[in-house]
Amino acid sequence: MAKQILILPGDGVGKEVSTSAVEVLDYFISEENLDFNIIEAEIGGASYEKYGSPLTDETLDIAKNSDTVLFGAVGGPQWEDLEWDLRPEQALLGLRKSLGLFANLRPAFLFNELASASPLKNHIIEDLDILIVRELTGGVYFGEPRGLVENEDPKYAFNTMIYNEEEIRRIATVAFKAAMDRNKKLCSVEKANVLEVSKFWREVVTDMSADYPEVALSHQLADNTAMQLVLNPNQYDVIVSSNLFGDILSDIAATLSGSIGMLPSASLNGSGQGMYEPCHGSAPDIAGQDIANPIAMISSLAMAFEYSLERKDLAQKIQSAIKIFINQGNRTKDIATSEEFIRTSEVAPILIEIIQNEQKN
Ligand code: NAD
Repeated sequence: MAKQILILPGDGVGKEVSTSAVEVLDYFISEENLDFNIIEAEIGGASYEKYGSPLTDETLDIAKNSDTVLFGAVGGPQWEDLEWDLRPEQALLGLRKSLGLFANLRPAFLFNELASASPLKNHIIEDLDILIVRELTGGVYFGEPRGLVENEDPKYAFNTMIYNEEEIRRIATVAFKAAMDRNKKLCSVEKANVLEVSKFWREVVTDMSADYPEVALSHQLADNTAMQLVLNPNQYDVIVSSNLFGDILSDIAATLSGSIGMLPSASLNGSGQGMYEPCHGSAPDIAGQDIANPIAMISSLAMAFEYSLERKDLAQKIQSAIKIFINQGNRTKDIATSEEFIRTSEVAPILIEIIQNEQKN
């Protein structure tokens, strides 16, 4: 049966980097004769301008029926004063919630040739290759009750950090399986020293480890992990954490590898469906100048091939082409060390040429 792919370029550089990813996708569709049905739609500010809503019901329906959603980025200063529900960023939350995308996979890796772009010293950062698995639809961001009580003195606000056993098991399953595919090390991160919900999280993950005897499981307190990611990031293979701690840790990990323009992400719902997007936003400061780095978006396409489209071989082709691209000294503006750089629109054609050359060899 044909796989359906929904392309949502969005706003700002989202449009430019999506164009690059679609060029690579189109190449594989014709080269490999892939039975894919591609649909493109507006999202975020672009959708608001056209339809008065950042995410229309029609787009949401198409997303629900798609195997893969490729999402560029949304947002921009022109929409910042809109009512909360109309803001571009709401589209992202709406999609995550409606598709039940509970597992967010954020790889953080470094091409050693780009080590000078990292804020860390070369010997600390060399060979960085971590996967952060963050729970995305539960925890304190969604827990009830929540609120602001203004009619008492003093006023107060509160949120609820809550996880049930099933939520912990399903995110830990994703993480254990990812560790099995990688270097078989899993670090579960929480605050079991002060939070009941974390103590429970640790118990459930520990209980599950019997099903994955090959995976070396460790536990770490989130504050220590924040420190260790900077001191010795190579101690990690896969990290699994809750929505709140995962949010913070994945951003720390993202900064380690130099440019946010390099890092992809996947959000999965456990039934093969996934949304794939770069870690960066719409970058209004550089939008429309043909200088954004599209590699995060193209790597997100690679993750889609791996996790939703059952073509791990094509994911590997993209990843090794990106490696060769960097090895050859090609640099977009964000990672360039001299005045010369490759423009956004030049990246996909170079990558496709590399893939073709590799195929001949
Ligand atoms: P941003 O990620 O858009 O930009 C941060 C910095 O990184 C900027 O200097 C930008 O030029 C640079 N950058 C980002 N992507 C790049 C790329 N591909 N190549 C080279 N440089 C790149 O974050 P921000 O400036 O905080 O937010 C801008 C807008 O994006 C806001 O409206 C925000 O709400 C939105 N946003 C959207 C998403 C999303 O759609 N998933 C995520 C984060 C922020």
